[in-house]
Amino acid sequence: MRRLPIFFVIDVSESMVGGLENVDKCLQMILGELNSDPYALETAFISTIVFAGKAMVLNDLQEVYTLTVPKLPLGGGTDYGEAFDCLMREIDRNVVKSSREQKGDWKPLIFFFTDGNPTSSSYKSAFKKWDSSYAKNASVIGISLAAKLDYSILGMITEQLFLIDSIDQKTIKDLAKWVSVSIKTTSVAIGDGKNLSGSDAVPDEDETVHRINLKKDNAGGSEFLSNNDIKVIIGKCSKTSRRYVQLFTREGRNYREKGCYVMPDEEMYDKLTAGKNSGDTIDTSSITGGMSSCPHCNNPVILTNCSCGKVFCSDPTRAEFVSGGSAFKLTCPWCGHEGLYQNGNFDAGTGLG
Ligand SMILES: [Zn+2]
Ligand SMILES: [Zn+2]
Repeated sequence: MRRLPIFFVIDVSESMVGGLENVDKCLQMILGELNSDPYALETAFISTIVFAGKAMVLNDLQEVYTLTVPKLPLGGGTDYGEAFDCLMREIDRNVVKSSREQKGDWKPLIFFFTDGNPTSSSYKSAFKKWDSSYAKNASVIGISLAAKLDYSILGMITEQLFLIDSIDQKTIKDLAKWVSVSIKTTSVAIGDGKNLSGSDAVPDEDETVHRINLKKDNAGGSEFLSNNDIKVIIGKCSKTSRRYVQLFTREGRNYREKGCYVMPDEEMYDKLTAGKNSGDTIDTSSITGGMSSCPHCNNPVILTNCSCGKVFCSDPTRAEFVSGGSAFKLTCPWCGHEGLYQNGNFDAGTGLG
């Protein structure tokens, strides 16, 4: 039997932390839709690849009805190159090529979900390799998850990019439907002995899923995110020693906190993160507006900066005060160093060394 290989390649970089749960739901809904479609059940095989600074296969190509997609992890960085290198390896390893003796699998359908521009230039060589050896025999559909992307980069791998405005529940539901229709349409065509190319496979844009024609609008994407528009702080809870992810978005010269989240799977985070340096530093005097409390222990202050350079949560009202009450003792859950702290800008403690 000739299979229709489908690859979901999903950006799980830190900035996705608030939307991961909804993307999870989106995948479950897609599977649900496909499970009730006789054509898809017959031909569609799905593999899930996640990427941040590194890429990882969450599940090999698998029939729809046997598949449960594992919960999406989180990682640091956005490396399109790692994602495509992994995708090409998986295609080589799993997709049956046509030969004189046998008809191979149908052209793979790749859904590339991302919410940020690459943080490394490794995509250049990977995209080149893709273009010369894989592009002809595969269809890539780019899906921008509520982001201002540099379209000229994605334009190297796909002509059509689809954009959703937010990752809320309704939009995600619509996106799931839209992706399912693409897969169903392709399965039906295959049933008739036709293989659709990317642009024929997908339905036109609808209310929530907008199309950007990269050939026409390829002006570099007018306005796109710079790496300074989103800042991510990886902190550690001083009570539980578990990590949290604090997101900031730029507003003019300042940063506003968007939320603070429990890091889903710390072991996976380390595997998906390239290098030691994850997260950013932020000048606390540039933070405007309020901040969340620690998502692990509810401590009111989550920006406490140790001399080791790492950040952790603390509760200054319960700390042990010294020096006549002007400073307090805290132990850093990252390096174990006990230091003296005092209140700095806002509520964030600043290290005294
Ligand atoms: Zn805490
Ligand atoms: Zn420390």
